[in-house]
Amino acid sequence: MENCLFCKIIAGEIPAQKMYEDDDMIIIKDIDPKAKNHFLCIPKTHFKLLAEMTEEQAETLKRCLKKIPTLEKELELKGGYRLVINQGDDAGQSVFHLHIHILSGQKMGWTPA
Ligand code: AMP
Ligand code: ZN
Repeated sequence: MENCLFCKIIAGEIPAQKMYEDDDMIIIKDIDPKAKNHFLCIPKTHFKLLAEMTEEQAETLKRCLKKIPTLEKELELKGGYRLVINQGDDAGQSVFHLHIHILSGQKMGWTPA
């Protein structure tokens, strides 16, 4: 998708700290971490919202979700982790290419705004 930051990162046009990549996804370090370890799992297929997801994209997202716990060492998930998908403006979504935040490395309180 033109003018999408994450599509450009996937295409290698913008640099990122890549932790993992396969045919379905790329996992990078978040540039502005909100936890000790903060990664973004970005499906390679471009869509903005769960509400707009096709069946095929849902299958890709399922493979992403199944992959994440297998990367315990690389993503430092051992003590537990949180997955977040921001959906829309009220949730603070700033990049409109659906992605899963992976937060770990410390005990996290539950403090929604
Ligand atoms: P969201 O607000 O849920 O759309 O999440 C977007 C995330 O992308 C934020 O946590 C940003 O810090 C992160 N981000 C923005 N630009 C970059 C970049 N160039 N490389 C890595 N992460 C980025
Ligand atoms: Zn995109």
